[in-house]
Amino acid sequence: SHTAEIIAVGTELLLGNIANTNAQEISESLSTLGINVFWHTVVGDNPIRLKEALDIARRRADILITTGGLGPTYDDLTKQTICEVFGKPLVLHRDILEEIREFYEGTVHAPMPENNTQQAELPAGCVIFENPVGTAPGCAFEQDGVHVLMLPGPPHEMRTMLRRHALPYLRALSSEIIVSHDVMTFGMGESFVDQLLHQKMAAMSNPTLATYAKPFEVRLRATAKARSQEAAEAMLAPVVEEVRAVLGPVVYGVDVSGLAECCFAHLLRRGLTLATAESCTGGLVAEQITALPGASKIYRGGVVSYWTSVKQGMLGVPQEILDADGPVSEPCARAMAEGARRITGADLAVSVTGVAGPEPDERGVPVGIVYIGLATPDGVFCRCVDTGKRQRSLLQGLAANHAFDVVR
Ligand code: ATP
Ligand code: MG
Repeated sequence: SHTAEIIAVGTELLLGNIANTNAQEISESLSTLGINVFWHTVVGDNPIRLKEALDIARRRADILITTGGLGPTYDDLTKQTICEVFGKPLVLHRDILEEIREFYEGTVHAPMPENNTQQAELPAGCVIFENPVGTAPGCAFEQDGVHVLMLPGPPHEMRTMLRRHALPYLRALSSEIIVSHDVMTFGMGESFVDQLLHQKMAAMSNPTLATYAKPFEVRLRATAKARSQEAAEAMLAPVVEEVRAVLGPVVYGVDVSGLAECCFAHLLRRGLTLATAESCTGGLVAEQITALPGASKIYRGGVVSYWTSVKQGMLGVPQEILDADGPVSEPCARAMAEGARRITGADLAVSVTGVAGPEPDERGVPVGIVYIGLATPDGVFCRCVDTGKRQRSLLQGLAANHAFDVVR
């Protein structure tokens, strides 16, 4: 299989003015092609050091992808330097020069500066990657078994060229494809998941299984390399099944983006509507559900009831509950959910009330305790979770995920 090195050219990257998002995006795409990315190199706009980087890279990788330095200015020297290292002449392409000239006249409304001519010069015999969103074309060539691909620096230009030209070019180098499925879990820490599946994961080579911990969630990615989609699917199905069997109910979906989406799909399938009553999450549950396209089909609305007077006045939480049990309590969570269900007419209503900190609440309920209420036509349910003492935003995110987990 192929080994790639990504070489980002730009002094700004070394100075820390910008992050190397191009390398991140390219790596992510190459992994789906089954190309191993073993090195990310960053080098400034300096021809001597770029030459050194290329000399090292061509000895340890057979796919070199550069980004940046294709522009028209004096510090844009990627093409020239690559041509020197690989002993290729630069050839002027008159048709590309005309396109650049037209771009200036049509879009920039100015005559083309003469130094743009060098953008129309490309290594002899290369495949040209046209640039529909900028002026500098990219290109690729192969020499002595090493493929060199040059992409522009501006991220949106890089992305467009990557998708339209570079990935198809790379895909054609290999007869195998990569297919993966993500098994999504919530409610079990990464180390516990790892303990249950470690032996299996270590013994696998194709397909493979790997864990990725997002905040509060563990994603298990099963990946297969095969000659066809069908063959890959046949390899993956038993892996996904086994993960489901081992982890049980913490698995909430396969190839879904998160719990909010899973909850959304569940409600849509059943034709149910949802309302929310949120205290410590401050509307995060509502925000995450309304971020999904088509949310109005399932989401009616909600109340952010932060003060107890709002819990009482808007949601009708009885004063006795607030006095006897307090706002962070099971009875209050239940009453909030019932209130939200009543005032919105939704089929289901979910409530969240908890202590986000930094101090315990007046009654001494510790930071991290959260009650999730769920009002349904069949009655009211409640889950109490101890989310632990965490940074406020993490605690809120975790509480919101529990709310979705209770609904799904
Ligand atoms: P231009 O024609 O704009 O000069 P170029 O191909 O020469 O394009 P650079 O001059 O190296 O590219 O970079 C242009 C801009 O793209 C930089 O100012 C920076 O904002 C962004 N950029 C460059 N490299 C990267 C990178 N690796 N990751 C993210 N952004 C980048
Ligand atoms: Mg430039």
